Amino acid sequence: MSQRSIVIIGSGLAGYAVARELRKLNGGIPITMLSADHGGFYSKPMLSNVLATGKTPASLLNSDAAQMSSQLNITIRPYTRVNIIDQSSRTVLLENGEDLSYSQLVLAVGADPIRLSLAGDAVDEILSVNDLNDYHHFHKALVGIKEIAIFGAGLIGCEFANDLAVAGYQVHVIDVSAQPLGRLLPEEGGKYLQDRLAAIGIRFHLNTKTQRVERIGSRYRLIFDEDRMIEADLVLSAVGLRPRIKLAEAAGIHVNRGVVTNRYLQTGNANIFALGDCAEVEGKVLPFVLPITHAARALAATVIGAPTAVRYPPMPVLVKTPACPAVVSPPDPVVLGEWQVDANQEGVKALFQDQAGNLHGFALLGAATKEKNAITPLLPPVLA
Ligand SMILES: Cc1cc2nc3c(=O)[nH]c(=O)nc-3n(C[C@H](O)[C@H](O)[C@H](O)COP(=O)(O)OP(=O)(O)OC[C@H]3O[C@@H](n4cnc5c(N)ncnc54)[C@H](O)[C@@H]3O)c2cc1C
Repeated sequence: MSQRSIVIIGSGLAGYAVARELRKLNGGIPITMLSADHGGFYSKPMLSNVLATGKTPASLLNSDAAQMSSQLNITIRPYTRVNIIDQSSRTVLLENGEDLSYSQLVLAVGADPIRLSLAGDAVDEILSVNDLNDYHHFHKALVGIKEIAIFGAGLIGCEFANDLAVAGYQVHVIDVSAQPLGRLLPEEGGKYLQDRLAAIGIRFHLNTKTQRVERIGSRYRLIFDEDRMIEADLVLSAVGLRPRIKLAEAAGIHVNRGVVTNRYLQTGNANIFALGDCAEVEGKVLPFVLPITHAARALAATVIGAPTAVRYPPMPVLVKTPACPAVVSPPDPVVLGEWQVDANQEGVKALFQDQAGNLHGFALLGAATKEKNAITPLLPPVLA
């Protein structure tokens, strides 16, 4: 190949974070970003609290692809899906049949919403919101309706529930687990959050498995079992994400839960990198903003020629449920230990400690969120 050219697949936070970091280190190296979507820049975390911020979906787009292209001095090709990666010729084959060479390739292709396996004639009408286009669609569907059912009492489900309830919608949250944020909070924390969200009118249907979703006139019927069912005007699914691995897998790149990389964000091929929601870095799939920020910095340095291992400090996540402020830093699931919980009317402070008393995670709710800055430095790094 005559000229070095870095190709980034994906224009989400991960793709743009890498492009920015690369530009800081090298003003001239050619960078091409290929995106299956509009290619503009927006903050995805805002999607679950748009109504509370009073924003319109259109105003969520900070800059469109043309503006980003001139800001970063990169080529951006929106609505350009990559179909095939050919490692041997170092090219990517686009949907339109064109191929494009790369010297280094960055996979920032994100994750797909998980779909529950349900019966019923309305299953295909269940919405999910994982990007700005999805949000436009969802926002339009909210016009003139009252009652919304959300599958999933995790982070995203609770955030949407809070946002919709404050905006005046009747909200149901349905989950198979016994409490909201089951993977992030001890029981007392889940109860505290549930009570605060219930106080603004959110109705929880926990320990509940939905069997069918059927259309009944202009509404939907969610059938839990023979005796239990609810109806709603719209059904939103927020039961988690699955890293997009198919493109890499088809190219013979090692995948597991995500696209597998080492600490240099390098796949088995030294010229192909991955980060963001699609990546599994040293065994960790971390679909959040802060890991992207750290990974992008290290990846850009490595690509430019200064191999840099990513380090993740503690990275607490703020839960955007204004009815119950919360911040969580879940422990690594391999660590054996237990929660020490201090709960009262004002809040919950839960510290996850191993048998030797070392702190590995926390969950702070209500007034206890004030302690975040004092406790965070006591945590071990997520990746040392
Ligand atoms: C509603 C919501 C709220 C959230 N809130 C928070 C929060 O409060 N805090 C936090 O830390 N995290 C939050 N997150 C998670 C965070 O937003 C994500 O971790 C992050 O945005 C992922 O960025 P990404 O670039 O990896 O993926 P994406 O944003 O999904 O981008 C993937 C890109 O790849 C493109 N693409 C995919 N396949 C191809 C292909 N074959 N060819 C070309 N292009 C392709 C897509 O078009 C897209 O541009 C939230 C997520 C959601 C959905």
